[in-house]
Amino acid sequence: MIKVAVMGAAGKMGGEVCGAVLADPGLDLVGAVDPAVLDKEIPQALLTAGITVLPGKEGLDAVAIDVMVDFTTADAAVENVLWAVENDIHSVVGTTGITEPDIKRIRGLADSGKANVVLAANFALGAVLMMKFSETAAGIFDQAEIIEMHHRGKLDAPSGTAIETARRIGEVPKASKVPLSDEREVKGSRGGRLGGVQIHSVRLDGLVAHQEVIFGSTGETLRIRHDTINRSCFMPGVLIAIMAVASTPGLTVGLEPLLEI
Ligand code: NAD
Repeated sequence: MIKVAVMGAAGKMGGEVCGAVLADPGLDLVGAVDPAVLDKEIPQALLTAGITVLPGKEGLDAVAIDVMVDFTTADAAVENVLWAVENDIHSVVGTTGITEPDIKRIRGLADSGKANVVLAANFALGAVLMMKFSETAAGIFDQAEIIEMHHRGKLDAPSGTAIETARRIGEVPKASKVPLSDEREVKGSRGGRLGGVQIHSVRLDGLVAHQEVIFGSTGETLRIRHDTINRSCFMPGVLIAIMAVASTPGLTVGLEPLLEI
């Protein structure tokens, strides 16, 4: 059995992960941490299993853990990964907004060989394919824009998935010809530009997580779209990462290597 601790256990994603870990016969949920435990409703799966959510990871000092799963905030995630590697615990991180310098720092630690880290901006298998297909399309189409749409509570913009998609499209050696617009009345109406790709972020109640990548060329467009209807879509990818992280040396960014695509 793989012993798992979840950081951000009282959060939306962390609660879902706790439920998925508890439901998997190959996994053992040995710890759940969230400093907001007193202010939030404890996920039903944890109440049913009689698992106490701890307010800090200090409470895990005497607990044997194989894998830490983190769905918190960017700053907390970096601190949690550093703690995990120091304690020989592998990490699966879904938290978005982690900066490039921090990712470099995590890579350095993971490369030291003490413990491995899997970091994925999107654990939904369809989203992984959307990024892969977008990379392929970027070799053919020279213009691309991304519209990412999320629930109003999402703090970071653009989304980690949009940043990763733009980065990967931008790395395809094909000149981008998205025109620079002449914005007049409303500044920012053309979105933000990353790697030659315009990104538009929509935040509205009623949305969960959606992204459309639109490629343009002479007389045609190609739209690659992914929709999630609830957070359960992320769980198969999270479980794959939990099972694989111990045998995946160093830092792995994205799920592709684990899916062998
Ligand atoms: P949320 O606000 O519902 O939950 C985050 C939780 O983390 C909160 O309960 C907070 O109290 C807790 N937290 C903060 N600091 C902590 C610490 N030091 N230790 C333990 N817990 C701590 O947010 P959410 O919707 O669950 O999203 C969490 C993160 O996951 C965000 O960065 C979001 O963008 C990302 N996310 C990633 C994926 C993916 O597939 N990779 C999917 C959805 C969301």
